[in-house]
Amino acid sequence: SNRIMLGPLVAAIDQGTSSTRFLVFNAKTAELLSHHQVEIKQSFPKEGWVEEDPKEILQSVYECMDRTCEKLTQLNIDISNIKAIGVTNQRETTLVWDKETGEPLYNAIGKPQCRWLCAVWLDLRTQSTVERLISKTPGRNKNHLKHKTGLPISTYFSAVKLRWLLDNVDEVAEAVVTHRAMFGTVDSWLIWCLTGGKSGGVHCTDVTNASRTMLFNIHTLDWDPELWISWGNTNVCIVDLQCLGDQSAALVGQMCFQDGQAKNTYGTGCFLLRNTGAKPVMSDHGLLTTVAYKLGRDKPACYALEGSVAIAGAVVRWLKDNLGIIQTSTELEKLAASVGTSYGCYFVPAFSGLYAPYWEPSARGIICGLTQFTNRSHLAFAALEAVCFQTREILDAMNQDSGIPLTQLQVDGGMTSNRLLMQLQADILCIPVVKPSMPETTALGAAMAAGAAEGVSVWSLRPEDLSEVTSEKFEPQINPEGTRRFSKRRSSMPLTTVAVSLNMGE
Ligand code: ADP
Repeated sequence: SNRIMLGPLVAAIDQGTSSTRFLVFNAKTAELLSHHQVEIKQSFPKEGWVEEDPKEILQSVYECMDRTCEKLTQLNIDISNIKAIGVTNQRETTLVWDKETGEPLYNAIGKPQCRWLCAVWLDLRTQSTVERLISKTPGRNKNHLKHKTGLPISTYFSAVKLRWLLDNVDEVAEAVVTHRAMFGTVDSWLIWCLTGGKSGGVHCTDVTNASRTMLFNIHTLDWDPELWISWGNTNVCIVDLQCLGDQSAALVGQMCFQDGQAKNTYGTGCFLLRNTGAKPVMSDHGLLTTVAYKLGRDKPACYALEGSVAIAGAVVRWLKDNLGIIQTSTELEKLAASVGTSYGCYFVPAFSGLYAPYWEPSARGIICGLTQFTNRSHLAFAALEAVCFQTREILDAMNQDSGIPLTQLQVDGGMTSNRLLMQLQADILCIPVVKPSMPETTALGAAMAAGAAEGVSVWSLRPEDLSEVTSEKFEPQINPEGTRRFSKRRSSMPLTTVAVSLNMGE
């Protein structure tokens, strides 16, 4: 036949917060051959609650795989050459399902119709659970578990969401008693379903996802019995390479394998990870310590310092869906560029509290500096600046922790198609921002890892061997008078402090 001979292919299921994708790459060149994307519905049933439907997520995966394979067949590419499929996923999002029926077990409370949902990482319903847990620690210390988990006790992580499900959903509590309950993050749910579900599906996760549950010891690389005391027992096995949390996959896909290299992913939130090598570095400036990757059973774990920003692309979605000042996210750039300044307007989109470096769930958003001259274009510009300033805060914290300032930032994620944002980011950080021309680094990282597990030699890939990998560099702009567009003073964000105190009765 006239089938195209490409050699082995590797693929990835990329299950993000706003969409699911399936992507197939040529393992030798890392060229993206075909992909399909399906948007995921999010619901906000109450203030602070963010939910998605696990069955819709699963369905979106099947649809993406089917459509991508159809596209490959149309291109005369033999899909039997796909040698490995990796899973990369939104981290922390938590679900519990019934191993006998295969049904997700969380029935949204207070809703007349039964809907199966999972608590998304942005969800704040666990705020009182978190307060209770912190009040039990000596000295009410949110960093009490940090020496084991690398994380502060926060609404963000899976364990508190699991606690909420155990305490508030009868079906979950009942399934625990009858030994039918299965707990997992999105990777575990998908892999269990894809490997046979109730007729023998594999219940597993990997070190990167596990390190975000607050139940995992990042030094021993295993579940910690002491951390599990308040939750029950786990039999979720830890596997290598088949799945990888989205931010770890992006680090791998960006080839940030060296100590000191860093990438920032601009999706629903922003996630800046800096590789710290084989040693976990504990932050003194509000960052997380997380397992970056472990590329094989006999390979050592590699760690990262991470700064998570809850709201980045989500602010664009908010301007679109809640304020209606843009129809599509791509319109934002034109609108903001039409004025080129926020005209003194500042926007702190602390919709889900503030993550790094504050870890303050009760903070709320503010927009200030408004005048009669302010219009939606200035607001659009202020929203882009907000993403950049939040990143700047993380980078400053990281530079302080490591003592070695970062000299260049690799970037990826849906928002990086906004070139104005990228230029603003370079200006505000005062270092070059480098964007690979193949933006699907998260999926590439997951596909590479899965390929390695199946003996497909994607690991011989070096950036210099990849003819397809080109990148665009945004250099910080210098004003005509020879100064940076943004001074250090301007980039410090006193307003964030206002957002923090705003809802704390201070
Ligand atoms: P996730 O992995 O969190 O699902 P993606 O990496 O797919 O996110 O990025 C989607 C996010 O990027 C959305 O929140 C969307 O609002 C935002 N976005 C997409 N395109 C643009 C653009 N041109 N300008 C600004 N924001 C954008």
